[in-house]
Amino acid sequence: MTAEYDAADAEEAWELLSAGPGPDCALFDFDGPLCRLFPDGSSMAVANALRTTVEAAGLLGVLSEGERTDKDPHVVLRAVHRARRDHDVGDLVARLEQQVTEGERTAARTAWPTPGAAEFVRWLAGRGTRLAVVTNNAAVAADDYLRDRNLRESFEAVHGRAADPDLMKPHPDVLHRALRGLGLPPDEAVMIGDTPTDFMAAERAGVRFVGIGRTAAKRQRMRDAGAKVVLASYDRLLRLIPR
Ligand SMILES: [Mg+2]
Repeated sequence: MTAEYDAADAEEAWELLSAGPGPDCALFDFDGPLCRLFPDGSSMAVANALRTTVEAAGLLGVLSEGERTDKDPHVVLRAVHRARRDHDVGDLVARLEQQVTEGERTAARTAWPTPGAAEFVRWLAGRGTRLAVVTNNAAVAADDYLRDRNLRESFEAVHGRAADPDLMKPHPDVLHRALRGLGLPPDEAVMIGDTPTDFMAAERAGVRFVGIGRTAAKRQRMRDAGAKVVLASYDRLLRLIPR
């Protein structure tokens, strides 16, 4: 990505988030836009712990080859949820969900803050934009993190993973819940996300989207999914704030 490309996107993002009175609300994904919950592949330990639980239940066979090595715990959770149609999984989905939640809460204590996110969040909240978190992680993990960083008061609500994994993004359910809670229509909102699933959920909910991608590969994946406004960081947005 050239610097010019990023600058043009920053101006568009600025228009979306800040022009005139700005939108009434900004919906932030948690992992990526606000922090790195599992830096350096540290989610693998949680995913492996889930696989141990699946194996103990005698259901390792429901995982595909890729699902047996994926570092994303959500991949394991969803695979077992999907398998319930053909297998008796008992209460395994609920137990795995609890295990993911515990892993995310532990990770939240040492998550790396996304550079500039706290400053941008405080500025948006300070100018009256209503903020909510819309994450596939456990709401309690995002809540813990925001309290630790004195950011919780900037957000009106934190919406996380529903009990039914089918309702995780790219399903728009979590955005619908957030908008319902705020009492706002989708066209009053902008979502800030870092993955194609965030973009798809926003599209389905009728919410405009700004991508923040730490790496060129992440940014390209969002563009390939159809995202028009994608930034490398909050830097250029922060520079546009009038001082
Ligand atoms: Mg994310």
